[in-house]
Amino acid sequence: MSEQHISTAAVSTAAGLTPIPGNVDPMTVARPSLVDGVTPREDGRIDLIGLPKKRIAELFEGAGLDVKAAKLRAKQVYHWLYHRGVTEFEAMTDIAKTMRPWLAERFVIGRPEIVEAQHSSDGTRKWLLRTADAHDFEMVFIPDADRGTLCVSSQVGCTLNCRFCHTGTMRLVRNLTVGEIVGQVMLARDSLSEWPKNAEDSRRLAALMDDIGDDDDEEGGYHPSGRLLTNIVMMGMGEPLYNFDNVRDALKLVMDGDGLALSKRRITLSTSGVIPQMERCGEEIGVNLAVSLHAVTKEVRDEIVPVNKKYGIEELLQACADYPRVSNARRITFEYVMLKDKNDSDDDARELVRLLKHYKLPAKVNLIPFNPWPGAPYECSTPERIRAFSDIVFQGGISAPVRTPRGRDIDAACGQLKTAAEKKSRAEIDRLLAEKEAALLG
Ligand code: SAH
Ligand code: SF4
Repeated sequence: MSEQHISTAAVSTAAGLTPIPGNVDPMTVARPSLVDGVTPREDGRIDLIGLPKKRIAELFEGAGLDVKAAKLRAKQVYHWLYHRGVTEFEAMTDIAKTMRPWLAERFVIGRPEIVEAQHSSDGTRKWLLRTADAHDFEMVFIPDADRGTLCVSSQVGCTLNCRFCHTGTMRLVRNLTVGEIVGQVMLARDSLSEWPKNAEDSRRLAALMDDIGDDDDEEGGYHPSGRLLTNIVMMGMGEPLYNFDNVRDALKLVMDGDGLALSKRRITLSTSGVIPQMERCGEEIGVNLAVSLHAVTKEVRDEIVPVNKKYGIEELLQACADYPRVSNARRITFEYVMLKDKNDSDDDARELVRLLKHYKLPAKVNLIPFNPWPGAPYECSTPERIRAFSDIVFQGGISAPVRTPRGRDIDAACGQLKTAAEKKSRAEIDRLLAEKEAALLG
């Protein structure tokens, strides 16, 4: 994973808050309006984005096509939707001209609405997006010399309350749907004009994706000058493993060769450590894993990543060691936010090395300078401290690059939220955090 991956900060509208579940894991249920993976629209048409080929075929059959025709049309439409990125049935040239209005009367090809698009002076781009039921969330594109990374959100808000994360001061509004998750990647391809236009483009894209490295240690190979969207990180707003099914189904569309065709080696899912879902993540999705460790003692991790009270450090590291297909070529990334006088001592660095070695983890560490936000209870460690910490971990034989914050001028860096969350008073934030913690510990 790049040193320069950053996370989105996302924003919520105040409306329609979902109550936080009580004495169970704060796993959220699907939106009540979702029936069989289909979000009903007021005009009665069905949005196809987010649906797999099989479901599209079923809908075509339900709309009157015979089984064989439904299957064939679904195959064609699927290719146009997810591989070629068209947004009009009229553009589907291998589908009979008479058939296209039939499709348009019954179905739509949706995208999340873009409320605002911002460009950072360092090239980072941030989009404020809105769901059909008016909840706002964000995605960020980070171009680098050798890759382009899209940081995707999985929820509006978050049930967890990591103390250094602005998203943690918000309630969970709701899980994003499959269409809203894959829709972010599709919107990015729209905005960057990167859909393959013909079979030759598809071949070139596939070759390019094979050629470019997916690892920090990559050398040589073809460098697309950061223009192409080559990598995805599930590091936006929310905890992806608390929206497991939707994240999995969306990433399947992204990884399908006839879909968005991005290799699973180029996708990284970041979790705060939701152990019960980690193995499934490896088995059912198979993407790279990043774990927000952030501390090496129970005392400190309990404070800054409260889910630690439920799933402790040892158990978490064991789950990492058991993560399917982990190897030296596919190491787990441990994210470690640098908080002044909290988790940044030489002893902490040495303990980090000891722990990772004890569990024999093929690991790399990503040191993230803390990105401040209004009312945040911590400060960022000094650059000298971060360098000293990084050196100790490197000397222990583990790669520990310092991530360069990107997009700070447009509030696009890790955990930088604004609007709805900012408007809360300190007392309101404290009340909300206490509520979330009670729900978490149930
Ligand atoms: N919920 C998931 C993924 C989203 S957060 C998780 O917690 O892993 C993506 C990364 O940004 C996490 O490592 C998170 O701890 C980090 N992060 C959150 N707020 C931050 C801040 N203010 N400064 C730096 N990193 C932050
Ligand atoms: Fe949620 Fe991740 Fe922020 Fe923790 S760091 S509050 S899990 S988004």
